[in-house]
Amino acid sequence: MDRNRLESLKKEYAKLLVRSGINLKKGQRLAITCPVECADFARLCATEAYEAGCAEVLLRWRDDGLTRMKYLCAADEVFDRVNPWEKDFCDILSEEGAGWLSIYAEDPESLKGVDPDRIRRAQIASGRELKAFREREMKSEFPWCVCSVPTAAWAKAVFPEMDEQEAQEKLWEEILSACRVDGDDAVEAWKAHSDELQRHVEILNRYDFAKLIYKNSAGTDITVELPEGHYWAGGEEKGADGTMFSANIPTEEVFTLPKRDGINGRLVATKPLSHNGHLIEGIVFEVRDGKITEAHADKFEEVLKDAISVDEGASYFGEVALVPYDSPISRSGILFLNTLFDENASCHFAFGEAYPLIKGADNMTEEELKARGVNFSMTHVDFMIGSPDLEITGVTHDGEEVPVFRDGNFAF
Ligand code: ZN
Ligand code: ZN
Repeated sequence: MDRNRLESLKKEYAKLLVRSGINLKKGQRLAITCPVECADFARLCATEAYEAGCAEVLLRWRDDGLTRMKYLCAADEVFDRVNPWEKDFCDILSEEGAGWLSIYAEDPESLKGVDPDRIRRAQIASGRELKAFREREMKSEFPWCVCSVPTAAWAKAVFPEMDEQEAQEKLWEEILSACRVDGDDAVEAWKAHSDELQRHVEILNRYDFAKLIYKNSAGTDITVELPEGHYWAGGEEKGADGTMFSANIPTEEVFTLPKRDGINGRLVATKPLSHNGHLIEGIVFEVRDGKITEAHADKFEEVLKDAISVDEGASYFGEVALVPYDSPISRSGILFLNTLFDENASCHFAFGEAYPLIKGADNMTEEELKARGVNFSMTHVDFMIGSPDLEITGVTHDGEEVPVFRDGNFAF
């Protein structure tokens, strides 16, 4: 792609994130989390935001090198706390309903060799201190959007055979194409895609399945009960004030939550999972009454076992998501080493925290949600189980069996 075209598509992408991702309103503030090496792209987003009438753009810079250095060199006690100004930043902005744009791009290996206990403790501290913020996020009380831009290290990890610049340009092209930014009106194209996801959401909600049965030749063979009053979501999301926003760009999934104690069988991952600097391969989970009773991996099994032991809820599940095997990200055949993309290439589950996709959840207490089968945890990790021969059958409350997926794609 020539340089000028790439630059103009980046602008269109920034516009898509601010308009469709956040749906920024006049007078609203916007927080942007961004790798420091991608400051030029943060500037494009800020330009779009101010054009849309943003009151103030606030930056939270990230840097893989400095994060790694902190995990290796900082005093031990800092991993058990969150600095109060960081907590204030999250609380004050989320309470006022500011937009929250997370430009997420990490060197998949940046935390390799770091003491896993420090990572775990930092996660626990942030789960505790930022609980209110996370709850507002889960309840869509403010508009938020996760997206990605290529950093040099990430691009090199995805395309190791290319030189750095070539790899970054190639990754830009793949990201833009996955987000349907192709030179025409990206906001329009995104809306059309989102409506198509909504069509599947509506069909699934109409069936109101009691359970889903998954089977494929990779070895997945599992029954998943869905909680009473659950609903499916996908594409645009409705914020607490009624404003539509897109929490993930790109997204290809429609998803809901499983009943916490209602999963039985075996799940076999069909793609490696990039987690805390390790590429975990060959994951197999045995599941009884919702709990992972056995976890196996061919590579980095210890990292996997740590991940499902962060807290009690980490060994239960929080998400079931349907993604057609024919989706554009899946067809690209690229392992992006970034969940935002890899989870959108394949049907997946997540262990850990559930999105409370239960009718009336906003007025329920944590205890009431738990009673309905909602899982709580400070972690949420997606892993991929889709395949070209995946079959999913829905069973309604009357016992009727309905094909949901056949040959890896929607049957309706
Ligand atoms: Zn998902
Ligand atoms: Zn997820």
